[in-house]
Amino acid sequence: MEAQKDRLKDLISHAKEYGFVFPSSEIYDGLAATYDYGQMGAELKNNIKLYWWKSMVQLHENIVGLDSAIFMHPTTWKASGHVDAFNDPLIDNKDSKKRYRADVLLEDHIEKLRQKIEKEVEKGRKRFGESFDEVQFRVTNPNVLRNQEKIENIEKRMKNALEKNDLEGVRQLIIDLEIVCPISGSKNWTEVRQFNLMFSTELGSVAGDASTVYLRPETAQGIFVNFLNVQKSGRMKIPFGIAQIGKAFRNEIVARQFIFRMREFEQMEMQFFVRPGEEMKWYEFWKNLRTKWHKNLGLGDELYRFHDHLKLAHYANAACDIEFNFPMGFKELEGIHSRTDFDLKQHEQHSGRKLQFFDPELNQSYVPFVVETSVGLDRMFLAVLSAAYQEEQLEDNTTRVVLKIPPVLAPYKAAILPLVKKDGLPEKAKEIISSLQLEYNVQYDEKDSIGKRYRRQDAIGTPFSITVDHQTLEDNTVTIRDRDTMDQERITLDQLQNVIYQKASWTSVLGALVQ
Ligand code: ATP
Repeated sequence: MEAQKDRLKDLISHAKEYGFVFPSSEIYDGLAATYDYGQMGAELKNNIKLYWWKSMVQLHENIVGLDSAIFMHPTTWKASGHVDAFNDPLIDNKDSKKRYRADVLLEDHIEKLRQKIEKEVEKGRKRFGESFDEVQFRVTNPNVLRNQEKIENIEKRMKNALEKNDLEGVRQLIIDLEIVCPISGSKNWTEVRQFNLMFSTELGSVAGDASTVYLRPETAQGIFVNFLNVQKSGRMKIPFGIAQIGKAFRNEIVARQFIFRMREFEQMEMQFFVRPGEEMKWYEFWKNLRTKWHKNLGLGDELYRFHDHLKLAHYANAACDIEFNFPMGFKELEGIHSRTDFDLKQHEQHSGRKLQFFDPELNQSYVPFVVETSVGLDRMFLAVLSAAYQEEQLEDNTTRVVLKIPPVLAPYKAAILPLVKKDGLPEKAKEIISSLQLEYNVQYDEKDSIGKRYRRQDAIGTPFSITVDHQTLEDNTVTIRDRDTMDQERITLDQLQNVIYQKASWTSVLGALVQ
């Protein structure tokens, strides 16, 4: 746990030092849970967006994009259920005065029990060595079974209480499990209350109920209200999807853990409209394809796991999360939800407009069902950054910090470094930049020794460093250094484009995702 905290701390300071993420309005001591992306962060973020957009929109004939407004008619949020039900159960510790999400306290408790099980399994593995049968061990070891049973009991009680909105039941569970406040260590808890997460503001100059608008808490509703506009103008046929990337706002009770939980964040959402009755087939389809999308980045397959929702949101008939092993442990990265026809039906009711599709094959009109994939852009950013961040012990006993960012996402694809600042080397380096910059974001650096410049590029995750020396002027060859292996190779300028292309082009990463 301590090591995990340290890792997050190291990551935060590295992100600040190298221009990835700054605390917002830092000169005024910052604003809680709000962050700004710096010069490197903006590049990385844009590349993540492109990876999503290209694979979701451009690689699917039947998915199109949208960019809807953040402000929407207030009735939208009445219809979607957010005004009445977009709540988190909160609980305060009377001694520390700290506020928590009651469901998160319970989830954390469950996670601790899970970790106990994993420890037990590890112990077993060590004890039995080669002959260890993990599956058998998990279904027979009394300690594992006892903790598994505890988890199941807690999950059952929690699901029951949350579904019935039984806040006293939620509190009782916290008391029964003897959960203590991590700050004060006490069990002195208040009642559990519901807290609405939407930010509201006034439209125009007249105050009053009629002019109250909300900052959207999700981008999805902009897609639903435009369902017919897109379907008709784009002559779309079911099944089809609408994708959008944009800001969302939530007044989170507990906003901590860096950019993992912010009050202003960005979502990349896709709503896929399908025939009623076919939603489970598409739910499985998107679960698989989204998992493939994540793993395709090569951060490590073991960093992902599924979590099926215990308590389904008011609109869903199936839901799961793709969780990622962040420095704080496994947490939600992406949600995949089968939203039924809830949203479109609600909007039909509240607007009085029909939101239906005439299916020529069935010769029938219906309100489509929806399968949603929703991934947080900032959480993707944190996932990439935290998996990429590595401190390596080198052979000469020095250490280097390197960001092994997937090359296609790296802020710069290559750095062009003249060995010295004279003899025509800077000019040659700039010629090379001109030949690459239309296709790739590349950086010029002539300051300090080559060794120091390599370290700087490692720290921002540049996959290639290209050194221009006197020999370059004679035979048009350069030294290219690989960020991950630190191997250096002499190649001709003619080969340069191709070497970068092989590792860092969109083709190199998107190929595996073509359906
Ligand atoms: P959580 O349980 O962590 O609050 P959620 O289940 O409410 O998340 P969704 O409503 O499914 O989240 O939102 C879809 C995605 O948006 C999430 O998977 C996450 O990546 C991202 N997201 C949600 N809330 C935040 C936030 N406060 N800060 C950053 N990203 C967020």
